Amino acid sequence: MPSYVILEKCDGCKGQDKTACMHICPNDLMVLDKEKMKGYNRATDMCWECYNCVKICPQQAIDVRPYADFVPMGASVVPLRGSQDIMWTVKFRNGQVKRFKFPIRTTQEGKVEPLAGFETGSDDLKSQVLCTEPASLGASAIPTLK
Ligand code: SF4
Ligand code: SF4
Repeated sequence: MPSYVILEKCDGCKGQDKTACMHICPNDLMVLDKEKMKGYNRATDMCWECYNCVKICPQQAIDVRPYADFVPMGASVVPLRGSQDIMWTVKFRNGQVKRFKFPIRTTQEGKVEPLAGFETGSDDLKSQVLCTEPASLGASAIPTLK
């Protein structure tokens, strides 16, 4: 089931040009109704339930009814993202609540070096070598198809 916005909780990201859910959706599905100041999913049949919008929403205003292999029928799973970890609250249909907390990073926010000190590899767009290879693999060359 695709994502949906819990209207009572959504504050429209306080009217910013681009809301958090708009910024994060890889499918460009989330939009803001500027009259009502509420976000919504404009093409639910295109949503692949990636949970990105659910995790980034600062108001915990987005939910997804996930597949049963991930969430037992009738339960809800709500993430709360911190700067170092994420807490998942699972509410089962019998009222039982369980919480699971996982670390999400090993570096401080804003401190990641994209290339980790390595140079970019080949500038040739047709090259089979990925960015920072072969140095980041500790190799002098990558075996490629001739
Ligand atoms: S990120 Fe959350 S609060 Fe912001 S517009 Fe989207 S649903 Fe509303
Ligand atoms: S669950 Fe993923 S694909 Fe669906 S609206 Fe949210 S961010 Fe977009």
